[in-house]
Amino acid sequence: MHHRLVPTIATLAAVLLAGTACGSDDSPSKGASSAGDAKRAAAPAPADPAAVGADETGAVPVLMYHQVIPSPKGVYDRTPEDFRAELERLAREGYVPITAADYATGHIDIPAGAHPVVLTFDDSSKSQFGIGPDGNAAPNTAVGILLDVARTHPAFRPVATMFVNADPFGDPGGRKTLPWLRDHGFEVGNHTRDHANLRSAGPDVAARQIAEQQAMILAALPGATVATLALPFGAEPRPATLAAKGTSGTVTYEHRGVFLVGSNPAPSPFAPTFDPGAVPRIRSAPATGEDAQFGSTTWLDKLADGRVRRYTSDGDPTMIAYPRSGTAPAAAYTSRSRAY
Ligand SMILES: [Zn+2]
Repeated sequence: MHHRLVPTIATLAAVLLAGTACGSDDSPSKGASSAGDAKRAAAPAPADPAAVGADETGAVPVLMYHQVIPSPKGVYDRTPEDFRAELERLAREGYVPITAADYATGHIDIPAGAHPVVLTFDDSSKSQFGIGPDGNAAPNTAVGILLDVARTHPAFRPVATMFVNADPFGDPGGRKTLPWLRDHGFEVGNHTRDHANLRSAGPDVAARQIAEQQAMILAALPGATVATLALPFGAEPRPATLAAKGTSGTVTYEHRGVFLVGSNPAPSPFAPTFDPGAVPRIRSAPATGEDAQFGSTTWLDKLADGRVRRYTSDGDPTMIAYPRSGTAPAAAYTSRSRAY
């Protein structure tokens, strides 16, 4: 899917660079593969990290959504209007969505000056996605609204991660819906077969719940990799490592990221505090109401006004730029780091 994104990214980078007028003429070849060089040949030179305020060890909001319905049944649900308004805010503030797998593996390929955001959807309800008679995403679903917002904000890449259970979106085996999602750049992640509480289930049942759901996803998406898991209820199995890696029957699973419920922005995948086995997520929520201090509106305010250091891209996915006043990347990334 990446090659389809290239013209968009190049266009975006051009727009951003035109705005800053600080592009360098240096050849952007450091550490890039030959395929990367080919891609970059048509793209503008990378921006000066200082000019765009790059900070690639800053925090990344991983937002968690459940139902998107006109009459929310609890604090986990949002109305379609509120959901759209949140996406519009993210677009306005320079966020670009990436998938949970891209976050967890440090593949953050967004324009200079942009901030990554991960949009995640749990429980695979019909309010999140359905395919209309015309073959497009049903317009009032979360996916339909996301695509619509992206049409009016071309910099806002319409991707998300759907953490699904058995028969997602009311579709037996996900046979129609999961291929559609994959073909449109969405990630399909594991949320267990029956939305099991993996802590109370015990290790054998926990592994089976994860393995059987992976088998269902791969039956719908032959050749795919299920790279991420969201824990139902945020409950970790015992031992907790069973969420990342395990075997049940003939199925072996291995996740690059395990996602929790609540309650703060996630560290950059390059930060020393990054733990792919326990990635925090932020519940989408208004500025007031139950536990609003842990909700998305409050955290996005703090990320916007600098109370929390936010990940800002330097536009070069091969290098990790950060201000000297900030946090140095984990030791494994020293050779790719660039302080300014
Ligand atoms: Zn759930």
